[in-house]
Amino acid sequence: TASTTAGVTSGTREPAGGTASTAVARARRAFDSGVTKPRAWREAQLRALRTLLVDHEAEVAEALHADLGKSATEAWITETGFVVREIDHTLRHLKAWTTPRRVPVPLSLTPGRARVVREPLGVVLVIAPWNYPVQLCLAPMVGALAAGNAVVVKPSEVAPATSGLLARLVPQYLDRSAVQVLEGGVPETTALLAERFDHIFYTGNGTVGRIVLEAAARHLTPVTLELGGKSPAYVSDDADLEVTAQRLVWGKFTNAGQTCVAPDYVLASRRTLEALKPLLAQGIQAAFGDDPAQSGEYGRIVSARHFERLTAMVDHDRVVTGGRSDASSRYLEPTVVEVDDPDDPRQVIMSEEIFGPVLPLVEVDGLDAAVDFVNRREKPLALYVFTSSEKVRRRFVRDTSSGALAFNVPLAHLAVPGLPFGGVGASGTGAYHGEHSMDLFSHSKAVLSLPTRPDGTVLVRPPFTAVKELVV
Ligand code: NAD
Repeated sequence: TASTTAGVTSGTREPAGGTASTAVARARRAFDSGVTKPRAWREAQLRALRTLLVDHEAEVAEALHADLGKSATEAWITETGFVVREIDHTLRHLKAWTTPRRVPVPLSLTPGRARVVREPLGVVLVIAPWNYPVQLCLAPMVGALAAGNAVVVKPSEVAPATSGLLARLVPQYLDRSAVQVLEGGVPETTALLAERFDHIFYTGNGTVGRIVLEAAARHLTPVTLELGGKSPAYVSDDADLEVTAQRLVWGKFTNAGQTCVAPDYVLASRRTLEALKPLLAQGIQAAFGDDPAQSGEYGRIVSARHFERLTAMVDHDRVVTGGRSDASSRYLEPTVVEVDDPDDPRQVIMSEEIFGPVLPLVEVDGLDAAVDFVNRREKPLALYVFTSSEKVRRRFVRDTSSGALAFNVPLAHLAVPGLPFGGVGASGTGAYHGEHSMDLFSHSKAVLSLPTRPDGTVLVRPPFTAVKELVV
């Protein structure tokens, strides 16, 4: 009966809420003890995480292969190695980033000293998605630890092999109190969100983003939302089309298109689209061979639900190249399709983020129309423009808004540690990577210190005699 089942469940497993509150309480106690604040502790955690990734590179690659069919090389470039590079960059600069910054004081406050002191926020919650399940759990964690916080990380249940591996390995290497990995799906995350955090860092879709914001509002907790959406790629008539096609293929079909900053669709003039079609087909063939199903370098769709969503998007009458699929292995061939009426709301392919290996080609009539097309839609996470013209570049910088704007290359802005990574508007709020993570996971505290003598405040307090004398 239902009651027996409930009894068995609660008797054999701790209820989700209990697990969440226990983990948060442990992290809170660790933070309150002050252990996370010294730079030495932060560095030790980052080094330990680096060792974990290097020691277990093969196991991490296996988990990513099990969840997403990622090749080991792609796993290193976009996940494990990515986090290692983020750690190395952070370790190199942590001393400078944690040193208080002097700022000048006005004349009336001399000889006072004003400083900006970065202090940790407290306990940070990281909720990660499944598409880069290592990078998107650990890169935010690097920033949170570097800034001296305790962290609770919730990997995505949709990538179960990776989630399980992180939950097993992290406690073996990192501080078991200050760093908690909690596995689970919606009930566990809901229980976590009822807890009080000092910052919530969420990566995923906008629908859940709204749930996170509402939960955070109850505690006035600040939130970073790393969301997605449709990232356009405009190919100008003056672009180097051969290289453009190769880079579009790379940007779109990495991780089988399940990349938040993948080019979602291509905008170009009719002439350029016609020239691109065979080049895209050649680019796919060059990257993955005649049958991408046999390529060890091409990923699989994460779940049956996403596989069905994606295959339903493909209009087989409009396929330029690709289109074959196999449900049992969740394989969807790199696919290019033409879209006739991008404003038709029944065309799900142009109204929703695709998040898979299907690349629509959309005709626009030149530069003005392309800028207008982008501006009539939600602000994208990334906007890509392929062009050799400075005039075109200037136009996009000035007249469009997006999380990132990259010319002639997709994805690569993530690899520049000095660049903030984040969205704007519907694609998210807040940004991280490198020193931007430090800013995000710290409070910049204003610290002013004024000696008592000489007392410059006589200038600004009643009876204002001193200041009146100065003015008269
Ligand atoms: P997902 O399904 O793994 O969900 C993300 C997280 O939200 C998971 O940890 C999940 O457990 C949790 N979650 C799901 N439903 C919930 C609920 N009702 N209440 C509380 N928590 C819940 O991943 P997803 O959302 O499918 O991820 C894909 C989206 O993420 C895409 O839109 C993509 O563009 C975006 N994305 C953005 C970035 C970025 O850095 N900006 C990176 C990767 C993915």
